[in-house]
Amino acid sequence: MKNSLGPDAMFRDGLSKGQINLQQCDDCGKSIFFPRINCPHCGGTSLTWQPTSGKGEVHTTTTVRRRPESGGDYNVCMIELSEGVRMMSRVDGIDPHDVKIGMPITTFVGDIDGAAAVLCKPAEG
Ligand SMILES: [Zn+2]
Repeated sequence: MKNSLGPDAMFRDGLSKGQINLQQCDDCGKSIFFPRINCPHCGGTSLTWQPTSGKGEVHTTTTVRRRPESGGDYNVCMIELSEGVRMMSRVDGIDPHDVKIGMPITTFVGDIDGAAAVLCKPAEG
């Protein structure tokens, strides 16, 4: 059993525990996604895992058409978190056609095809 997981495995390990963690660069303070070994902003190698605020907004959105018997249409989106990072996600809990660019969302750990994944829902209030 290896102690030191790679950055991607660390991220997935967090998801498996219901946590969405982002790396933050100790040198320039920026948050990083996808997980990696070097800061893409300044090249720093001292990165610290931090839980995300979970707050963000929809950056782009697409409705994927699917037969009703397969679960119906669903949303695929790029979200931008308040930490300044973007990631693929899916807005659950509302009609996929009602997902709008700029809509405030809250992230949570859900399930896509049996794997833990970052999902989101419309932010409260
Ligand atoms: Zn940096």
